[in-house]
Amino acid sequence: MKRLWLVWLLLLLGACSQSSVPIQQRQLYVFGTLVEIQAVSPDEAAFSAAMAELQQVFSTLHEQWHAWKGNGLLVRLNRAFAEGRCLALEPGLERLLVRAREAEAASGGLFNPAIGRLVALWGFHTDDFPVHGPPPEPEAIRALVAARPSMRDIRIAGGRVCSANPSVALDLGGFAKGLAVDVALEILSRHGMAGALVNAGGDLAVRGHHGQRDWRVAVRHPVHGRPLVTIPVADGEAVFTSGNYYRYREHAGSRYAHILDPRMGYPVDEVLSATVIAEDAAWADAAATALVVAGTRGWMDVVRGMGLSQAMLVTADGTVHLTPAMKGRIQYVEPPVRERVWPL
Ligand code: AMP
Ligand code: MG
Repeated sequence: MKRLWLVWLLLLLGACSQSSVPIQQRQLYVFGTLVEIQAVSPDEAAFSAAMAELQQVFSTLHEQWHAWKGNGLLVRLNRAFAEGRCLALEPGLERLLVRAREAEAASGGLFNPAIGRLVALWGFHTDDFPVHGPPPEPEAIRALVAARPSMRDIRIAGGRVCSANPSVALDLGGFAKGLAVDVALEILSRHGMAGALVNAGGDLAVRGHHGQRDWRVAVRHPVHGRPLVTIPVADGEAVFTSGNYYRYREHAGSRYAHILDPRMGYPVDEVLSATVIAEDAAWADAAATALVVAGTRGWMDVVRGMGLSQAMLVTADGTVHLTPAMKGRIQYVEPPVRERVWPL
């Protein structure tokens, strides 16, 4: 499985035997990630129907949102933007673009899904990590940053979508998984599942309860991979982690992470991982990416701007940085080198 280092060990406490209602389980793939789905329901047929629909929706999402393969919606949109053309809106697209624009604005531009050209320039539009070879020419990076691609450039009117800036290229890598988790929970609830957990490689969201105890997730340490903290996950919560450890470019002893600072056009290196608890998986996913970009200097601005209260960073020096509310949620499995709780 891809992104193995990101498979933050999931400890499911309060197992099926604790619950009087059976837990149905299934695994599906989306965006190269194995997604584990659990639902609290006695109705096997309803669960199977939900899974059949979800499988269908996941393969459509994968095809439509791929940033560089095939001829899906995103590839066609990016081609149209580059050529100054407009495309007809498709169902669900407006909501997605508006959400992406909101996340960019709320993060002060640090989460920017319009920087697809920069991501491609760094060679990160690939399934094979690590990428080898020297970083791109500084001049090429400068030119893409100077073009200032932003979700603000995208106009939606009269059933059509256009970009006022030809340098805009959408890359949903920073929050597609969150969107997929939200969609999965919606489908499960529509099929009558009272409680459900959707876990995409350690990024997860839950609805309802199972048994007497909460679901619980363990977040791994980004360096050595052992569990760092455990977090109980309550009804309606999503826990997302963004890290820069597995996907990177390597050259002459230097590592260049796949998360880029849109202001400079270069990979970030201070924050190794950021974890966010929020009520919306897509928002949590976008926020975790933005926090990695923000670093310790700017993370509180992102916390405030995106309306977060529970966030955690692990920096390259081994320090665990916490918001006060996150401090109240975590339990260390292994004490960190240093801990710093930041006032909001
Ligand atoms: P995540 O693992 O959710 O942090 O997403 C990382 C992916 O998002 C990268 O592989 C890129 O495809 C994309 N990306 C990189 N930098 C940014 C950024 N600053 N804002 C939004 N997406 C980004
Ligand atoms: Mg993300």
